[in-house]
Amino acid sequence: MAIISSQSGKTPDRSRPQRRTDDANSSADSSDASARRSSSGNNRLLRPQANSNEDLAVEDTGSPSDASLRPQSLSDYIGQRELKEVLGIAISAAQARSEPLDHLMFYGPPGLGKTTVCAALAYEMGVKMHMTSAPALEGAKDIAGYLVNLKLGDILFIDEIHRLPKVTEEMLYPAMEDYRLDITVGKGRSARVTSLKLPRFTLVGATTKVGALTAPLRDRFGLVQRLRFYETEELVDIVLRTGRLLETPVDRQGAIEIARRSRGTPRIANRLFKRVRDYAQVKSNGAIDANIAATALELFNVDPLGLDWTDRKLLKMMIENFDGGPVGLDTMAAATGEDSQTIEEVYEPYLLQIGFLQRTARGRVVTAAALQHLGYEVNLPLNLW
Ligand code: ADP
Repeated sequence: MAIISSQSGKTPDRSRPQRRTDDANSSADSSDASARRSSSGNNRLLRPQANSNEDLAVEDTGSPSDASLRPQSLSDYIGQRELKEVLGIAISAAQARSEPLDHLMFYGPPGLGKTTVCAALAYEMGVKMHMTSAPALEGAKDIAGYLVNLKLGDILFIDEIHRLPKVTEEMLYPAMEDYRLDITVGKGRSARVTSLKLPRFTLVGATTKVGALTAPLRDRFGLVQRLRFYETEELVDIVLRTGRLLETPVDRQGAIEIARRSRGTPRIANRLFKRVRDYAQVKSNGAIDANIAATALELFNVDPLGLDWTDRKLLKMMIENFDGGPVGLDTMAAATGEDSQTIEEVYEPYLLQIGFLQRTARGRVVTAAALQHLGYEVNLPLNLW
């Protein structure tokens, strides 16, 4: 499998603030090209290639030692059992028919593994994954550039697909349904539409906001799958795996301490792991146990439930300035100086998941559990009571 991608503005994602490192990778591209030469037609779909996924693998720090954190195959992919089962069936059926996979959509908060699972699909199918992000597909020629380069069975991964410009979205309809690219040549009255035949390919969309997708686009995906937050046990496995890959000793209690504070999100688990690893290296003998993990994460302002400074600021603002709510999203953004999209797509899902926020028709409301966690008296005159 090889992956080519475009740089783009991503959904605000506090767990991915550093450089995107899954850029176009010419060497991966050329190795795939030779693999392509040696395999032809449908056979290619049946044969997983043994290429490494280095081009997708460098995580947020960009350090070379991070190169293999991203699981390559579906069997390395931890958790999301139902999702893997559904995908396993889709892969087996497509391979038995020597056909590409149906178009797929993954949705869920950032960092849960949407890109990773798509890369694993490409690996299992033995095809190339082309990566881009909706905001990068501004004009017709941007998406056309991707489509004309696809080969039979290839996967086109579009991140943040809910942000597709209208013109791009409309070009995708015939491409997805009839494997046809309609290009308008000329202008005004002399303009005419030329159609280009495309090979059968698989479009994989990823989004943090499935509700923002238009119905015609959503309906063109054969499978729409939600990624859920991970259980602590699954995150413990991810942390232990990261420890092995980064050659950092971490015991089970240490892994639990990191997992508990990772907001159900693998990317955050890996990020916290790296911060704890730094701390253990500087303050101790480099090994991570529960005590080292807890002390380091307190220092980095990550509390035992994984709330950080911004989560606490959001909740405190709602409690102290608005009696616990209801507060509208825009008011929350204005009162905290955070971007409303970031609040909605990055912070809020986890606070809803752990029952610290509730969504009502009139806005967001803080719950008793959040009050207790933050040390407020539960008999405050909250609108909730
Ligand atoms: P998303 O596309 O949903 O924002 P990613 O696929 O980029 O998330 O995942 C972020 C990181 O988390 C990956 O680079 C990988 O290291 C790790 N990760 C995600 N899902 C898993 C998983 N199921 N098992 C192990 N690690 C994972």
